[in-house]
Amino acid sequence: NTFADIDLGELLNQNIRRCKYVKPTPIQRHAIPIALAGRDLMACAQTGSGKTAAFCFPIISSIMREQYVQRPRVARTVYPLALILSPTRELSCQIHDEAKKFSYQTGVKVVVAYGGAPINQQLRELERGVDILVATPGRLVDLLERARLSLQMIRYLAFDEADRMLDMGFEPQIRKIVEQMDLPNRGVRQTMLFSATFPREIQRLASDFLSNYIFLAV
Ligand code: AMP
Repeated sequence: NTFADIDLGELLNQNIRRCKYVKPTPIQRHAIPIALAGRDLMACAQTGSGKTAAFCFPIISSIMREQYVQRPRVARTVYPLALILSPTRELSCQIHDEAKKFSYQTGVKVVVAYGGAPINQQLRELERGVDILVATPGRLVDLLERARLSLQMIRYLAFDEADRMLDMGFEPQIRKIVEQMDLPNRGVRQTMLFSATFPREIQRLASDFLSNYIFLAV
C-alpha cells in the first residue's frame, strides 16, 4: 500500500514522492479515500500521526480537478475554495509549509493568516488570490471584516486540532466563520474535523457542521 495506489493526480503524486513519503500512515490510509469519495469526516488523530497530509492531499487533489470552477466576478474580491482552521500561528505555518510543498507546480495557491502579526501584509497577500486559506479563527474574523474576502465558494473545510481551538475559546469565531459559508454551499461543502479528543463539545461541533459523516479513530 503506497501513495501511488491512491488516485491523487500525477502532479500531487510527484510532489509526494519528492517529499519522500512512500507509505501512508494509518490515518492517511483511511482518511484519504473517504475524503476523495466526498464524504464528511470526523477523525481522532494525534500530532505526529500524519494528519496534516491526511486532509491536505484530498483538498489539493480535488482542487486541482476543479481549479477552474467559475468564481463570481465581484471587483477584487477573493474566493478561496478551501479553508483550513487551526488553533495557533505555529500550527498554521506548519500546515501552510506542507500544503505549499504538496501543491508545488499545481497552480493551487495556498495562503496563511494568523494573529499576533501585522495584518496589512496578510491582507495584501490574500488579495493577490488564494485557493486554500490556512488561518487561525480570530485573525480570519478580522480579515473578513477588513478584506474583500468571501467564504461563499468554500468547498472544503478542515478543522485541525478542533479540541484545542475550543479550549482556546475560539468557538464563537468558528461559528461566525462557518455561518458565512452556509447559504450557497449547503450540501456542496465537504467538511473534515480532526481532533485529538472527542468530548461532548466536539461531538456537538461535528453534528452542527458535518453531514452524514464517517467517524475514524486510529
Ligand atoms: P503531522 O502529524 O501531520 O504533524 O506529521 C508528522 C510528521 O510526519 C511530519 O513531519 C510529516 O512531514 C511526516 N509525515 C507525515 N506523513 C508521512 C508519510 N506518509 N511518510 C513519511 N513522513 C510522513
